[in-house]
Amino acid sequence: MNFNLGDLSTNQSAETEYVRVLIIGSGPAGFSAALYAARADLNPVVLTGMELGGQVSLTYTVENYPGFPDGIGGQELVDLFKRQAERFGARVEYDTATEVDLSVRPFHVKTYNKEYLAESIIVSTGATPRHLNVPGEVELTGRGVSYCATCDGWFFKGKDVIVVGGGDSALEEGIYLTRHARTVTIVHRRDEFRAGPVLQKRASENPKIKYIWNTVVSNINGNGAVKSVTLKNLISGEECEQPTDGIFIFIGHDPNTQIFKGQLNLDELGYIETNMMMETNVKGVFVAGEAGDPHYRQVITSAGMGAAAAMQVGHYLDETVGYQT
Ligand code: NAP
Repeated sequence: MNFNLGDLSTNQSAETEYVRVLIIGSGPAGFSAALYAARADLNPVVLTGMELGGQVSLTYTVENYPGFPDGIGGQELVDLFKRQAERFGARVEYDTATEVDLSVRPFHVKTYNKEYLAESIIVSTGATPRHLNVPGEVELTGRGVSYCATCDGWFFKGKDVIVVGGGDSALEEGIYLTRHARTVTIVHRRDEFRAGPVLQKRASENPKIKYIWNTVVSNINGNGAVKSVTLKNLISGEECEQPTDGIFIFIGHDPNTQIFKGQLNLDELGYIETNMMMETNVKGVFVAGEAGDPHYRQVITSAGMGAAAAMQVGHYLDETVGYQT
């Protein structure tokens, strides 16, 4: 079906805006999509979500994104992504999508500030750190429980902290925390790490890092501030109390796809189902980055998905709406 922009504009209220490409999310996927869509003259609008740049903006150093042989700060990289997309005409809105209706054309997307009528959508909403769901976690979040070493590490100067997890995040953030903390004890539920060999080697060479294997945290204790955690050994079943000043939790992520539930096909973990063309089950809605990628979740792979999604949007609009302005 073709839409005539003149017809649409007569139906718009002051809080309603028609856009050809709406990019929901501002991580590496969203900004790469914005760059490509902008260079294709599609005037994309990027909704930043609550965190400009997403998870990478909370990363101290990114060392595996090509072009930066000495590494680059996460926030600095996000700033470069944003500037590059804006240079070609992408518009960045500091707003969050709260509701979508993908059953109508153009699609309706409500945000905190307005409603967008979008001819096409690229979902690049990323993922959120997973919680342990143990007693004390919610009450003590921000009082010793943290999910971001670069945000909160400074508060633990000279103190003892626990890191939970055995993946790249746990080791990378654990290593970062040794800049501030006196000791970093990594508690992992198995006896081998999931993390890659480079990080494992770097962690093993760091004298401030200690390990507790085959163990989970079953309680976080403290009144107003973390004082200790209860650890449970999964082999013996024994529990013990370990004093600590803080606990950093890096046990993976859940995709931010709740607002698409019932409209886009999601897998059992909530990731948006897609194909090599970044398509979803709704024509005109594409996905890029971690919201649709349970496997790689790297800055470089998310950026690649964003570029591919934007190119597919170009083909889609060409076939359905045409390139009228
Ligand atoms: P991840 O690879 O999924 O690892 C999660 C870790 O948490 C695993 O070791 C897992 O244990 C453990 N875990 C999960 N649920 C748990 C629970 N309820 N209690 C205790 N432990 C639990 O997640 P990630 O480390 O955040 O990494 C996500 C992706 O980003 C990966 O693809 C990773 O390669 C990538 N990443 C890359 C870099 C880098 O290249 N520098 C840095 C950060 C992240 P099991 O091992 O037993 O499953």
